[in-house]
Amino acid sequence: MPLPKINSSEEAIKLEDQHGAHNYHPLPAVLSRGEGVHVWDVEGNKYYDFLSAYSAVNQGHCHPKIVGAMHEQASKLALTSRAFHNDVLGAYEKYATEYFGFDKLLPMNTGAEAVETAIKIARKWAYERKGVKETEAEIIVCENNFHGRTTTVISFSNDEDARRNFGPYTPGFTKIPYDDPEALEAALKANPNVAGFLVEPIQGEAGVYTPADDFMQKAKDICSKYNVLFMADEIQTGIGRTGGLLAVCGHCTCEAHCERQETYTKPDILILGKALSGGNYPVSAVLADNEVMDVIQPGQHGSTFGGNPVAAAVAVAALDVIRDEQLTQNARKMGKLFRRLMDDYIRESNIVNLVRGRGLLNAIVINDSPESTTAWDICMALKENGLLAKPTHGNIIRFAPPLVMSEEQLRDCVNIITSTLKQFEK
Ligand SMILES: *Cc1c(COP(=O)(O)O)cnc(C)c1O
Repeated sequence: MPLPKINSSEEAIKLEDQHGAHNYHPLPAVLSRGEGVHVWDVEGNKYYDFLSAYSAVNQGHCHPKIVGAMHEQASKLALTSRAFHNDVLGAYEKYATEYFGFDKLLPMNTGAEAVETAIKIARKWAYERKGVKETEAEIIVCENNFHGRTTTVISFSNDEDARRNFGPYTPGFTKIPYDDPEALEAALKANPNVAGFLVEPIQGEAGVYTPADDFMQKAKDICSKYNVLFMADEIQTGIGRTGGLLAVCGHCTCEAHCERQETYTKPDILILGKALSGGNYPVSAVLADNEVMDVIQPGQHGSTFGGNPVAAAVAVAALDVIRDEQLTQNARKMGKLFRRLMDDYIRESNIVNLVRGRGLLNAIVINDSPESTTAWDICMALKENGLLAKPTHGNIIRFAPPLVMSEEQLRDCVNIITSTLKQFEK
């Protein structure tokens, strides 16, 4: 059956409403095309994309190199399952492990699956290497975390919408406050059965909460002291987004592609997704060194699509683009400029309290209650003015454009944002 042609946004929204589950509340923009930092709706209106599919599209929409790699591989061999080998997976694993500095990679598809994988590895490591008694392993997580939507992952969320009526919940998780090394140390001291500390280097969904500069290193040191795995969920923050190859790279100042500089805090388990494919295909991965990864043996974990040749080819191309186009460096530069220009505005503003973030992962906090519709209304007005962004947690608006943004485009975007905000000043 040929797909019926959609003639208006209204028509497309109605179809979704009638035939699709209502598990999202999207802004009413119906997009039909994307290129670089721009997307177009079915009426032909052009927008700057300031969400980048939650930081999956770091390399920009429909990057020709990534799309080319995907086409080429898809027309040659798309899926073998892991019952057999394919001639792309090993090369991808070699490339990606060297790129990020780990011994081994376990390929999955979505972010939540990769988080589940990391949890399984950490638990198994605790039983087989640390000597924790079976079924007693504990994983420490942070309040207001976001790690995905599976049953186990929502078991340790404190977002009521994400959790309510999905129980019984998976046990084995303890929550501590974010950005609180003392709380982490107390939790590890109190419980010898802790397998890992699972943490976002910046809490994206929670509203781009950016911890103290030394939080990652302190957390890692505490984990090392108590023989606990430091597990970094860099699904949103990783791959150039925050101005380092990873957010655990901290405030790197290297001008070349992210080398292992002094400020780098190496996780024991690194979780990647989203921009690992530039948003072209679901590709996620867990990386670790041998002493951790080797606890997983045949039959103990897997996925039919994980490590498929298309995913492998797409991921290599996506990582190439980050390096070749120096997108990490651009994110750092453009991010600094963005926060400086926004700060200039905010100083005189009643409607915005602050801008925070790192690289091109930023958010503004609106001066109104989280229950108000002000942030939503601002996003609707931004849409009218040609820029797409989405509120998170009521009164926070996240700004995360593709990293291919030029300075001229960024200044244009700041003008759109500030002139829109002016309409809302009290
Ligand atoms: C998006 C995200 C996930 C979940 O990824 P999915 O691909 O949506 O399953 C997990 N952790 C973080 C930090 C994320 O931003």
